[in-house]
Amino acid sequence: MNHFDSIGGEMHAEQVPLSTIAQTVGTPVYVYSTATLQRHARVYKAGVAKAGPRTHVAFAVKANPNLAVLRVLANEGFGADVVSGGEMTRAMAAGIAAKDIVFSGVGKTRAELHQGLDAGIGQFNLELEEEGVVLAGIAAAKGLRAPAVLRVNPDVDAGTHDKISTGKKENKFGLPIDQALDIFNRLAPLEGLNLRGVAVHIGSQLSSLAPLEAAFERVGALVAQLRAAGHTITHVDLGGGLGVPYRKGEVMPSPDEFGEMVARVTAGWDVELQFEPGRAICANAGVLVTEVLWVKPGVVHPYVIVDAAMNDLSRVALYDAHHDFAAVRPSGETFVASVAGPVCESSDVFAKGREIDLVRGGDLAVLLSAGAYGATMASMYNSRPLVPEVLVSGDRFEVVAKRVSAEAMMGEEQVPAWLK
Ligand code: PLP
Repeated sequence: MNHFDSIGGEMHAEQVPLSTIAQTVGTPVYVYSTATLQRHARVYKAGVAKAGPRTHVAFAVKANPNLAVLRVLANEGFGADVVSGGEMTRAMAAGIAAKDIVFSGVGKTRAELHQGLDAGIGQFNLELEEEGVVLAGIAAAKGLRAPAVLRVNPDVDAGTHDKISTGKKENKFGLPIDQALDIFNRLAPLEGLNLRGVAVHIGSQLSSLAPLEAAFERVGALVAQLRAAGHTITHVDLGGGLGVPYRKGEVMPSPDEFGEMVARVTAGWDVELQFEPGRAICANAGVLVTEVLWVKPGVVHPYVIVDAAMNDLSRVALYDAHHDFAAVRPSGETFVASVAGPVCESSDVFAKGREIDLVRGGDLAVLLSAGAYGATMASMYNSRPLVPEVLVSGDRFEVVAKRVSAEAMMGEEQVPAWLK
């Protein structure tokens, strides 16, 4: 459920007409709904609460790192799952306490390990044995014990797009689950480490709970094995990955069903369960508003050329992702067309030969479900300005990330003296 609905024939974000935002801020522009973020946060929390009272939900900042979005989620009691020093800084700037931050990521730098320790973050999710040794050394030198878990790769096919799959043995993430006990045995005694559990995350946009359940069962077996070897296991991080509907009418496992499955699989584990949802919280809390520039006759289908492009929303070019396209003021008529942006790449196409609302040059339209992995992946390719972001709450809206002009970006560059 989201708060992008038609009122009087025009799509609104909560109570704000999208045309008002477009007129004020220009297009393309990302628009987020506070009420939708809050609703998703609450539904997710209620879902995982079925697994017991000891849960910690850390928003995967990579999905949408906008400070205002993070603040909304901080106010909902979310922690943060970060994968860089930059995300850590953002999460704290948004009001998330260091103790509620989990640091994931396959390539943490030594500087980032220092940053996390100095900030006093809640947990490091270790990806390899050497990282544990280095972290322990840095922590011990500071007189600290780093709270940490081992991220394991359970070799489970998440059944999602290959490029967002992370739990197969050939993926770069996690350490092989069958080596976890030996690695735990070697790392646990290190003075600078409080190795207290395991983590798993097998991929994103999972449309079935079955692979998650298979992965969690393997993690449960590992927890039993670790305990049998004398280790104290108090924390298990079950990652994120819950899929969301990108197509009208599509049904995905709900946080409620997810929570029921987690409760069943983890019964008796006696640990704090941690979760790292990203997409499930913010994908359907955002849309990308764009203006139709031209309807270009095509040989196969007409091309609707919009002013948003793959540099603003790269998911389609990157992972063949689907975003529904809709007119802000639909006439009720439709046509079959392709939708493309102005960037000089053939992959800058949002929809191919799809039945969509009939639009003409000058009309406003939206790419729906764009709140996750949208603005955060934007670039200035083709020297296009960096897309702005707006947060709506009821009948209010505010720009929460400005449009950065190509001229401003040029201000960060320079021609070396020898070329002047
Ligand atoms: N946790 C980790 C370690 C991730 O790599 C990701 C994203 O791939 C997430 C959480 C968030 O995943 P999602 O947005 O699918 O919930």
